[in-house]
Amino acid sequence: MIRKKVLVTGGAGFLGSHLCERLLKDGNEVVCLDNYFTGQKQNIVHLLGNPFFELIRHDVTMPFFIEVDEIYNLACPASPIHYQYNAIKTVKTSVMGAINMLGLAKRIKARILQASTSEVYGDPDIHPQTESYWGHVNPIGTRACYDEGKRVAETLFVNYHRQNNVRIKIIRIFNTYGPRMHPQDGRVVSNFIVQALKGEPITIYGDGSQTRSFQYVDDLIEGMIRMMNTREEFTGPVNIGNPNEFTIKELAETVIRLTNSNSKLTYLPLPSDDPVQRQPDIDLARRELGWEPTIQLEEGLKKTIGYFASVI
Ligand code: NAD
Ligand code: UDP
Repeated sequence: MIRKKVLVTGGAGFLGSHLCERLLKDGNEVVCLDNYFTGQKQNIVHLLGNPFFELIRHDVTMPFFIEVDEIYNLACPASPIHYQYNAIKTVKTSVMGAINMLGLAKRIKARILQASTSEVYGDPDIHPQTESYWGHVNPIGTRACYDEGKRVAETLFVNYHRQNNVRIKIIRIFNTYGPRMHPQDGRVVSNFIVQALKGEPITIYGDGSQTRSFQYVDDLIEGMIRMMNTREEFTGPVNIGNPNEFTIKELAETVIRLTNSNSKLTYLPLPSDDPVQRQPDIDLARRELGWEPTIQLEEGLKKTIGYFASVI
């Protein structure tokens, strides 16, 4: 087995910590880079004793130099509350972070994978979303700092590939949940589970008829690693998500049932530009990666509920 040296930006975050863990388990050497904006040391503390794991505090908007074989670029706040907290910084993280990491990949000839998002499709007017769909994003809306930042990052990736032969991979991640989401992260799965476990009202934004397709973290990490290891010419973008679609109200009811909670539903205003429907078409991932999700919602929610019950 060849031990690869891998850089994970945003490695102390929810997804990054699972990725670091998996890469180490596969026998690689991992350098985790994070500025702890939304991530926490707690997420990777169990890896600190591993001699093949290294932790570096760094902000991706500043250049960074290292010798590695692969780079997974995950650094960016992902929850609407956090990415809107400092919208300008979110754009800088996506755009300057991509430029710095692509410059590094070019210089050291590393493969680089971008954690893009279903948000590049905006509030989609085709359903389900295929990779060939260009999206429907409001460039001046409250979500634009994230959506447009991620779109520019994709543009940078494909142009570094075209102009400089940088070895890129782009995945578009759909809503992912699981252990190590921050309890105050503000995303729907963590909010509903924490509220249900505390017996507090479940906060549904709008009438709860909007849909999302929820993917358990282990499925995503498998897809991410398979994508990094695809044939050289295949750059993506490729959707990685679970095509099973639920309304937000259905999610709330399922969480209440699985936690045996007495919580009641409460309805709050829908945030602006909140997408109405979202479901990935994963034919390309099936074909190119031989991948599809294996963990369905109830099974994943049970694992996630177990985690939150132990931390709150
Ligand atoms: P997260 O907020 O838990 O993790 C993001 C990590 O990036 C955190 O550890 C944070 O401290 C770090 N970070 C933020 N700005 C940084 C900067 N300037 N320099 C260095 N580190 C910085 O979110 P997550 O859910 O783990 O998301 C990880 C990546 O996956 C993000 O790029 C996100 O856009 C993408 N993604 C996630 C989802 C999802 O459902 N979880 C969906 C689509 C895309
Ligand atoms: N949402 C909700 N209650 C919450 C948090 C979120 O009803 O407490 C809704 C939100 O309006 C959106 C969906 O759940 O329609 C998913 O929100 P999330 O922030 O998890 O992700 P995104 O909107 O980026 O898909």
